[in-house]
Amino acid sequence: MANKDVTDPVRMEKIVSLCKRRGFIFQASELYGGLNGCWDYGPLGAELKRNLKDYWWRKTVQERDDVLGMDGSILTHQDVLKASGHVGGFSDPMVDCKTCKGRYRADNLDTLKCGQKPSCKPGGHSACELTEPRAFDLMLSTKLGALATDNDPKAVAYLRPETAQSIFVQYKNVLDSNRVKLPFGIAQIGKSFRNEINPRNFTFRSREFEQMEIEYFCHPDDGMRLTDEWLEARLAFYDEIGIPREKLHILDVPDGERAFYSKKTYDIEYEFPFGIQELEGVAYRTDYDLGVHQKGANKPLEYFDEETKQKFLPHVVEPSAGCDRTVLALICEAFDEETLTDDKGKEDIRTVLRFKPTMAPIKVGIFPLLKKNEEQVRIAREIQKSLQKWMTVFYDDSGAVGRRYRRQDEVGTPYCVTIDFDTLGENGEELKGTVTVRERDSMAQQRLPIDQLLPWLLERVR
Ligand code: ATP
Repeated sequence: MANKDVTDPVRMEKIVSLCKRRGFIFQASELYGGLNGCWDYGPLGAELKRNLKDYWWRKTVQERDDVLGMDGSILTHQDVLKASGHVGGFSDPMVDCKTCKGRYRADNLDTLKCGQKPSCKPGGHSACELTEPRAFDLMLSTKLGALATDNDPKAVAYLRPETAQSIFVQYKNVLDSNRVKLPFGIAQIGKSFRNEINPRNFTFRSREFEQMEIEYFCHPDDGMRLTDEWLEARLAFYDEIGIPREKLHILDVPDGERAFYSKKTYDIEYEFPFGIQELEGVAYRTDYDLGVHQKGANKPLEYFDEETKQKFLPHVVEPSAGCDRTVLALICEAFDEETLTDDKGKEDIRTVLRFKPTMAPIKVGIFPLLKKNEEQVRIAREIQKSLQKWMTVFYDDSGAVGRRYRRQDEVGTPYCVTIDFDTLGENGEELKGTVTVRERDSMAQQRLPIDQLLPWLLERVR
């Protein structure tokens, strides 16, 4: 078992700097000093995140017969979150330091820095004076409509703190409109908001973030078994996207540390450079959620089983993953610095993001060897056009071709295609109409006929 406290801040700094330099992730509102805990995804980050979400949706909704998708609203009726226990109950313990005026999450002090002496944790310096912990409300609210100006408490609505609640309150509508039978799931990808006390570790703990959640409704007898099955399915998913099993840790959350209604919870954790931290929770939530909404709304949410003639409240297994955390894990896992030695014995560092091709933001780089050669440029543009309908393509004609390869390595492009003099047939008829395809990880090159390029790439990048 890896040590939770082993961290690599230098690696993390390099990753954060690459993310900004190459346009993956920027601080939100940076022009005005930044908004703490909020992040903007740049061109490459947006592609990466989209690839992850599309893959999750395909595997979770489209390729399964038993899971349906939905897309709920972010603004949520206060009564929904009162019934769920979030209003007045969704908080983290916070302490203040009377000396430096810092505010810290009390159950995370070991991982935080003292406001006066950053080498210590809060409370670790002789001058620290911490208060007793008190509950800090994590909910973000707003006011809706004309009543808002009158300060009417009825105008208060919340920015959802998790996507799950909109699934629970629509469970009956989905059931009735789709004529599904237990067990079945409802999946959703969407934004959630929490007023975190100490947002940190880049995008890991943000105040605005995206979740990918499944609420899987089942018979009470099946809850425990399905929790284990979902854990396995989720571990397989991470492996498929390039986060290997050996970098994941499963925490079987012990009694007393789980939510009071949960009979079983697994945290899936990843070895980030800042320590082993949660990526996803797989929780058996029993019938708690449907129970509180049945009571709160005073409307029946029971399921009638035609075969057994039983009427009961379904139980729920919830695999709940953080989209931003998974994007960050993908980047951390892909980041590599490789030392290369040239013919003269000179060493050089190659920075590579070793994304799986399915996740890579750009699938293929297209380079005419010489930008002044009209025929090479014409063919390169033609190839670019034909591939663009199918995948993200980046055209680059500036600088030495070796430098262009390196620029694509740094953003994780798995393949680069170069159109050269051989393509034009200038070195013999047999290579005419072929291009060089260079592979990112091995740097191996091969020649392929232009008309085979699209099927060859599609087989590898989808
Ligand atoms: P943590 O203990 O890290 O605060 P949590 O147990 O409160 O997380 P859940 O409520 O189970 O998290 O949310 C499910 C998933 O949503 C988490 O596993 C995580 O991936 C993501 N998530 C939760 N809070 C945040 C956040 N502030 N920023 C980014 N992702 C988050």
